[in-house]
Amino acid sequence: MSNLADSSHPARPAVAWIGLGIMGSPMSENLIKAGYSVTGFTLEQDKLDRLAAAGGTAATSIAEAVKDADVIVTMVPASPHVEAIAYGPDGILENAKSGALLVDMSSITPQTSVDLAKAAKDKGIRVLDAPVSGGEAGAVEAVLSIMVGGEQADFDAAKPLLDALGKTIVLCGPHGSGQTVKAANQLIVAVNIQACAEAVVFLEKSGVDLKAALDVLNGGLAGSTVLTRKKDNFLNRDFKPGFRIDLHHKDMGIVTDAARNVGAALPVGAVVAQLVASLRTQGDGGLDHSALLRAVERLSGAQL
Ligand code: NAD
Repeated sequence: MSNLADSSHPARPAVAWIGLGIMGSPMSENLIKAGYSVTGFTLEQDKLDRLAAAGGTAATSIAEAVKDADVIVTMVPASPHVEAIAYGPDGILENAKSGALLVDMSSITPQTSVDLAKAAKDKGIRVLDAPVSGGEAGAVEAVLSIMVGGEQADFDAAKPLLDALGKTIVLCGPHGSGQTVKAANQLIVAVNIQACAEAVVFLEKSGVDLKAALDVLNGGLAGSTVLTRKKDNFLNRDFKPGFRIDLHHKDMGIVTDAARNVGAALPVGAVVAQLVASLRTQGDGGLDHSALLRAVERLSGAQL
């Protein structure tokens, strides 16, 4: 880590954090708890206040946040947001130090990550794509799975910092590989939620005690992290995000497009992508992805 060290705290690189949303806020706070100095920038003032209250420094622009940083972490919604914060005169690449390491933890298209790594190399900035899985709870508890794409040496340099954010941290291959694995993750999660939602409606219509049923199901082969994390959402019809349908819609677009490019068929994934899209058009895009239950309820005759 010596090539990333901050002179005021040799053991820890100085960190800039761009994007302090549902995930970025608790993740950046975990870095602060681990002893990193974090300077952040995001679009909402209340999130900047939250960072300052946690012991970080709120910046007024991306340029100000990144200018002295050894490591820059980004956690914004989608490819256009990553491009907006990375490129242009006010962006990361123009304003970061040569030699800085940019760790993009947003879930975006693999091609955007590949292009970013190429553009950053011209500026002497190293890049890792490092999207995560584990949801808001995983971010808060610092137990995320982090799937990384990029160079081994950069992964090794970032690993101590990533260890403060997650539990399962794996270099999956060259630039973009982390995003490809994340796309597969989102396919599995969406299909799993859909199966759980269909089971919930079937069980309730059959008159079975739902809580008892989900408890016993979760102890067998049908059990899953999805069921563990989302059981209460189903039981209480609590769809406060969490992970928004809007973001999962974006991810289903990424995985279906990437699969088409390599000639992989995703028949069930394609159907679930349509169900996610239909929830959005019905005004449920801001709800947690466990709201796939609402789509199944509507298809089963419920008036919602
Ligand atoms: P969010 O919408 O809660 O937060 C995004 C943040 O990005 C906001 O605070 C916004 O201000 C900031 N931002 C956007 N444009 C910006 C700009 N130009 N300059 C500075 N800041 C900007 O989203 P989230 O739920 O935290 O998700 C972030 C990423 O993580 C997404 O790619 C998502 O798919 C992924 N992800 C989310 C979860 C989850 O459970 N929420 C889980 C795993 C992965």
